[in-house]
Amino acid sequence: MFDAEPLDVVAIGAGFAGLYMVYRLREQGFSVHGFERGDGVGGTWYWNRYPGARCDSEIMFYSFSFLPELEQEWPLTERYPGQPDILRYLEEVASRLDLRKDFTFGAEVTAIEFDEAADRWTLRTAQGHLATARYVVTAVGCLSAANQPGFPGADAFQGLSLHTGNWPREPVDFTGKRVAVIGTGASGIQAIPVIAGQAAHLTVFQRTAQFTIPAENGPLDEQFVALWKRNYPEWRRRARHSAAGFPYTPSITSALEVSEAERRAAFEAAWGAGGFTFLSGTFRDLALDEEANKTAADFVRAKIAEIVHDPDVADMLKPRDFPIGTKRLPLDTNYYETFNRQNVSLVDLRRTPVEEITPAGIRTTAGHHDLDVIVYATGFDALTGPLEALGIRGRGGQALRDAWREGPQTYLGVAVPGFPNLFTITGPGSPSVLSNMPVSIEQHVEWIGDCLAWLRGHGGEVIEATGQAAAGWTDHVQQVASVTLHPKAATWYMGANIPGKPRVFLPYIGGVSNYRDHCAAVAANGYGGFAVFPAPAPRPVGKGDDGTRPGDGRAA
Ligand code: NAP
Repeated sequence: MFDAEPLDVVAIGAGFAGLYMVYRLREQGFSVHGFERGDGVGGTWYWNRYPGARCDSEIMFYSFSFLPELEQEWPLTERYPGQPDILRYLEEVASRLDLRKDFTFGAEVTAIEFDEAADRWTLRTAQGHLATARYVVTAVGCLSAANQPGFPGADAFQGLSLHTGNWPREPVDFTGKRVAVIGTGASGIQAIPVIAGQAAHLTVFQRTAQFTIPAENGPLDEQFVALWKRNYPEWRRRARHSAAGFPYTPSITSALEVSEAERRAAFEAAWGAGGFTFLSGTFRDLALDEEANKTAADFVRAKIAEIVHDPDVADMLKPRDFPIGTKRLPLDTNYYETFNRQNVSLVDLRRTPVEEITPAGIRTTAGHHDLDVIVYATGFDALTGPLEALGIRGRGGQALRDAWREGPQTYLGVAVPGFPNLFTITGPGSPSVLSNMPVSIEQHVEWIGDCLAWLRGHGGEVIEATGQAAAGWTDHVQQVASVTLHPKAATWYMGANIPGKPRVFLPYIGGVSNYRDHCAAVAANGYGGFAVFPAPAPRPVGKGDDGTRPGDGRAA
């Protein structure tokens, strides 16, 4: 139970990040409490319960590495874990570590204000909780602020309106229903085949056609699982020192230095194997070179033409206006095949935009669609949205929303100048959504835990990223992105899905391993780029007072 005593640390969110952060700090002897708007643990996997919701990271490495016993005991049944499996996993973590007692659930944080006289944060929730703490750690996820398009008339719809990112706890039965799905990103692409299997009729409203690769999900072989579990420490090590948090070896071959037949064979093999290695495991330059990228895009467009029977529908489904991989590549199970079903139709919103939502359905410029259910698979105000929604005010009462009017300014994606003692797990400017999330979350949590231990050991109470360090890092984030094809596409990585949002590349694409080294170097250098008050006395670089060295400590 939360008893309103002043705390060392408040954490917000009870997904992978919040659970580990609270555990880690509790073990380090800090007084810490978490607030979570959901009624239980799970974060992303609490809210995204839509049909077909499943993780695109394979189950072997979509878990914590700091719980070796659970790692061995947890059943690895399917290649990709479904939403219920991941939620069960996080519930098990919370039980084993006895974490629920350190959280208040059903508590939506609406204001976090820094008191400059006391050097403390005050936090308020919509439900009336009040807390004060020296430090605040946000663990609110990157994709937790749902994007609800403002179609005229939406509130008047008499049927059921649902958003994939805010799905009800009870399963929704689509049997006999006329259903619309608006949006064909990773969420829509997972939900559409499953809803099509239940609904009387499904109409997919597509604004931008998406490339998607078969997931090739299925049961895992027992021998494979046993071998994997025996070698877990090595797989984890490889994941930490990889580009994207996956323990696979990227290709070193250019798509342009092999013959047409070799290229096709590589794509065909990756398509058959399923998964993200279609991009990273085939050729090294698909994300960097337009000509190389086009070879992969042409391959997928040809697959769409092969799979989809109606040539007009196939044509509408072919993505043409962005390089493959610049929008997050979804993995699917029978997505393109679903458009061969008699009960599925496709509406191209570029040709016939939505005019309004009516009480009975959706009216486009081509006519009215009678509906019982509208599923908004319209994505999220990514990375900055969940943080700005917390009502954070730093020095001088400045709102984070105002500080980031031109785009987020962060140091390492974990700290913001003008907002002392605030840490943002997987914040903008960190690898976050471009990586296997648990790997990046563990790195941030451990780095923050080490930082707070170092401060305590050095008598520091306030730590704040300098404006200069944040400006330098933010420039670096943009420069690295500019080497890739990403800025050529209007994506949520660029803030392009939210009207009025500044167009900057939000995550850090320099790689998980490089990023980890960078953060470790900052810590080893006495937290260079941060101002610390009271300033620690100069001391030789080495062991901290609590016996840990900044940057290399791990829990259990
Ligand atoms: P998304 O990728 O942003 O896709 C949203 C879709 O809605 C897009 O097709 C978008 O069209 C459309 N849309 C948005 N506003 C619209 C409007 N006003 N009118 C018509 N269409 C509109 O969102 P998401 O599918 O929820 O996925 C977001 C991210 O979550 C993914 O990229 C991924 O990182 C993560 N995710 C992961 C998994 C997984 O691991 N399995 C599953 C789901 C999601 P435009 O393209 O034209 O904007």
